[in-house]
Amino acid sequence: MTRPVLRLSSSQLATNIEAVRERIAPSALMLVMKDDAYGHGITWTVETAERAGVEWFGSYDVAGGLEIRRVLERPAHVFAWATSTDSEIDEALLQQIDLGVGTAEYLARIIARADILGIRARVHLKIDTGLHRNGILVEDWPSVMQIAREAEAHGAIELVGVWSHLAEASDPEDDDAQRLFLQAVQEAAESGPTPPWQHLTASAASWWRPELRGTLSRIGAFCYGIRSADGPDLEGVRPVAELTATVIDVTEAGAVVAIGSFDGLPSTLAGMPVGTEHGVGTLSSIDLTTGVVSGVELSIGDRVWCFGAGVHGEETATTLAERIGTVGEEILTRLTARVRRVIVD
Ligand SMILES: *Cc1c(COP(=O)(O)O)cnc(C)c1O
Repeated sequence: MTRPVLRLSSSQLATNIEAVRERIAPSALMLVMKDDAYGHGITWTVETAERAGVEWFGSYDVAGGLEIRRVLERPAHVFAWATSTDSEIDEALLQQIDLGVGTAEYLARIIARADILGIRARVHLKIDTGLHRNGILVEDWPSVMQIAREAEAHGAIELVGVWSHLAEASDPEDDDAQRLFLQAVQEAAESGPTPPWQHLTASAASWWRPELRGTLSRIGAFCYGIRSADGPDLEGVRPVAELTATVIDVTEAGAVVAIGSFDGLPSTLAGMPVGTEHGVGTLSSIDLTTGVVSGVELSIGDRVWCFGAGVHGEETATTLAERIGTVGEEILTRLTARVRRVIVD
């Protein structure tokens, strides 16, 4: 079997996590793990991050949060921000998953479930700061805050966080969003204990805009070594994953490699450079399960690097993404189950 291999470097993930934490301190790192840890796999990522001392893990939904909780060996915070069903809320409460709450309706259901189960829910209320994607509107904030404080007083919830998400479209827009965010935090503080966890920024703003960071930063892409599309390189951060394929035949057209669009490699990337141990070649065509490499002398069994950290002349997932107008995250999360994940030190 010559399936393509996604090689995952544990030491590189730990190195990136350390670089990010140093950069954002004293803001704490929440490692974001949506889309199966951006295609890197939840189990391996949680194990490696826990060893590196990560204390916050972010999941899109409760199901992902439960998976993270199962892998964790020590107590750590797990945060899930998608609006969930009542049975998911129950599981989250039983497994001490912090809940991100962006609507009054969801807050009411969490309070009801917490009352029934007799478990205090840890809630992070989300203020809408302009993205209009699940968040309590500024005008509704005081009344929702009052409901939250009443539920806190009778023991159903603990308001541990206030959060929002930035558009990252322009600095002035993000500044405006931060003003609304800080106002919401202040209003929360005026109605009770200040929620200790205030989080607004993801990778790019956490890294480049220190003045926007809260006490916690939700970071995915940069920890995996995926820089922003059209963004600058990141000091001390390199790609964690490299994608390789094996030469299975040599024809007049070039070397046939066992990787194609069924593996999740977009056929629109035809013409992309690839790294090899004999120099850089071109993946001149991408078929369903195979591709053809030209411009370099290869033999059956040779390895071809499709993306990685550039050691063999290959590009990164982000530079490939830029060729077809997308982001590095998409190149990684598109890879299918045909690609074998191999963990290396
Ligand atoms: C994806 C996501 C993040 C992390 O974004 P990166 O740019 O990958 O760091 C943070 N918060 C929310 C709500 C997200 O959806």
